[in-house]
Amino acid sequence: MPKTNKTLRSQPINLQPEAADLGAVSRATARAVLKQQSAVEAGRRILDLTGENTERDGLRDTPQRFAKAYQALLDGYNLTPEEAVGKGVFPSEGQGLVAVEDVEFYSMCEHHLLPFWGKATVAYFPGEKILGLSKIPRLVDVFARRVQVQERITQQVLDAVQTLIAPRAVMVKVQAQHLCMMMRGVEKQQSQTTTQSIYGFENLQDYEKQQLLRLMK
Ligand SMILES: [Zn+2]
Repeated sequence: MPKTNKTLRSQPINLQPEAADLGAVSRATARAVLKQQSAVEAGRRILDLTGENTERDGLRDTPQRFAKAYQALLDGYNLTPEEAVGKGVFPSEGQGLVAVEDVEFYSMCEHHLLPFWGKATVAYFPGEKILGLSKIPRLVDVFARRVQVQERITQQVLDAVQTLIAPRAVMVKVQAQHLCMMMRGVEKQQSQTTTQSIYGFENLQDYEKQQLLRLMK
């Protein structure tokens, strides 16, 4: 017997329709096409502002490529945390620390529409449930692939873990570099921004608190 479509279910859902609702399918498709056209138009307008000949070979297809790239960079809107995790919630096997460190991510600063990127560490002490380990990077991507500020990604990942598996405690730490600081403004290349959110620290034993604090360094 072949395995069921567990893998398929955990893929990003992109305008996947309810089975019987064909009207919703065509409405969703029409919305997607309109969005795509608007993004191509936006790319063309930005190029126009440079005064370049936008019909020359190198630029002719750039608006389409721009639209496609931005669709991928911002596809976090197509998925809820629940969909990202799918069936990846399991009964916990113990109470000990679970930590997934240095999950790389790419996001888009909502103030300048310039990229920021870095790594996220998610650590929790389970209650009754645990998350499949691969689900943590998926959760990070759901929130990173939107227009964002780093502080909000940190808090949203924390809230999602809390909602999905109700751990005794959870900590999220994000470190990132921001192109809007590197390429423009203060033009600082080496600075790194760290944000942390924590929930349930008071629920932990002293030795567990120590474990969490070591991860936060
Ligand atoms: Zn910015």
